Amino acid sequence: MEIVEHRQIMILGGGPAGFTAALYAGRADLKPLLVTGMTLYGQASQTHCIENYPGFPEGVGGSDLGQRMNEQSKRFGAEIVYDTVQCVNLQQRPFEVCLSSGSYTADSLIISMGADARKLGVPGEREFTGRGVSYCATCDGAFNKEKEIHMVGGGDSAIEEALFLTRFARSITIIHRRDQLRAGAILESRARNNPKIHFLWDTVVREIIGGDTVSHLLIENLKTGQQETIATDGVFISIGHNPNTAVLEGQVKLTEFGTIDVDKHMETSVKGVFAAGEIADPYFRQVVTSAGMGAAAAISATKYLFSL
Ligand code: NAP
Repeated sequence: MEIVEHRQIMILGGGPAGFTAALYAGRADLKPLLVTGMTLYGQASQTHCIENYPGFPEGVGGSDLGQRMNEQSKRFGAEIVYDTVQCVNLQQRPFEVCLSSGSYTADSLIISMGADARKLGVPGEREFTGRGVSYCATCDGAFNKEKEIHMVGGGDSAIEEALFLTRFARSITIIHRRDQLRAGAILESRARNNPKIHFLWDTVVREIIGGDTVSHLLIENLKTGQQETIATDGVFISIGHNPNTAVLEGQVKLTEFGTIDVDKHMETSVKGVFAAGEIADPYFRQVVTSAGMGAAAAISATKYLFSL
């Protein structure tokens, strides 16, 4: 593909990490080009109300916050391209990035393409997302005061989130496909000792059912094959995340979690290539931490570019 333009810095991914990186790179007069990707404003855009981003005491809609970050970065010279990254070549310098609309070269990259929560892939899941189906307890937990809810998954995240949800919900039933948790012993013991937490072992969700919001789950016991419809006020799904690293395959070092391995300066295994947000973060996965990583990555990239 023909190279259309060269940039000092490109930012791949338009979630909170990417737009914060664009703001900082813009303020360093680097005229960054940010490629948004498919989901404008990332996973945050799917959150109805973000109540834990500082500076918004009444909360702020995920898309609204994204739009504000977009405008703020443009004010300092960032250029936004509404396109998806098709390929990245980190073996050559300058680096090459191809989009659907054309190819670019760049002296430095910040990769902030996020991660997608793994889906169950059952009927009703997509339809009720945001209406009783949630992938983020920290984001949506407070909407579940005195509710009877379910959590799907048996890993550290599912158990940690279930424990968090006990602050709000009347009861939380963890639905796990095996009869042993994947989560570590300490979390397991906390969950087992919490009177609000119950378990449904060897069980999977076959369908999510409701009207305006979720009201029932069709579940199946994998040992007996028996199916049953149970009532619920909402279901949290925490079965892992898939960092969006496909276009980078074999080009940067990944961690055991599949996220991009970064050092404390947010630099990847390739000099001049930085990563921020959930693509490089298996632990925190918050809008505020992603934004912080974006700022750090842009500061490091600025120092790198000035050293060339
Ligand atoms: P994870 O460890 O991969 O666990 C995913 C859980 O979801 C597993 O229990 C798995 O069942 C279940 N699962 C996967 N696909 C499923 C499906 N299609 N249907 C039903 N269940 C399904 O993911 P995670 O809990 O998000 O953790 C990610 C990494 O971060 C882990 O290495 C974890 O240790 C780490 N982490 C650590 C902490 C901490 O230390 N405090 C907190 C959060 C996360 P199986 O068990 O049967 O495979």
